[in-house]
Amino acid sequence: MPPNEPCPHCGQLILDWHNEWYDAAQRRAIYNGQAAMDCPLCRRAVLWFESRDIAAPPANAQMPVYERSAILAAQWVPIREPACANLAGYIATHPAGQQYSAYWPQTEIQQADQQVAKP
Ligand SMILES: [Zn+2]
Repeated sequence: MPPNEPCPHCGQLILDWHNEWYDAAQRRAIYNGQAAMDCPLCRRAVLWFESRDIAAPPANAQMPVYERSAILAAQWVPIREPACANLAGYIATHPAGQQYSAYWPQTEIQQADQQVAKP
């Protein structure tokens, strides 16, 4: 969430901004306009104030830019996209996941998948 909104910086249509890969406190700050998400492709800051359209922050804005959690993403995939099995599979095979292929280092994805797979 939100799906299919373009990045105000690079113009690419982001198939899923994956706000759910932030923790609850970060999502609250993003909703309140106190923090920014980053574009998975160009990594520049975007606002999702009160779940309206994705927007660029004002030029003079001073706010944290949060990075999505590989662990939360690795937990999300088996529940929401079980056909992809794990985060590595989602990034390799799902069109929305492929936009995150350069977002985390490969080792971080593997570690997150391993951690989630532990009984
Ligand atoms: Zn972008």
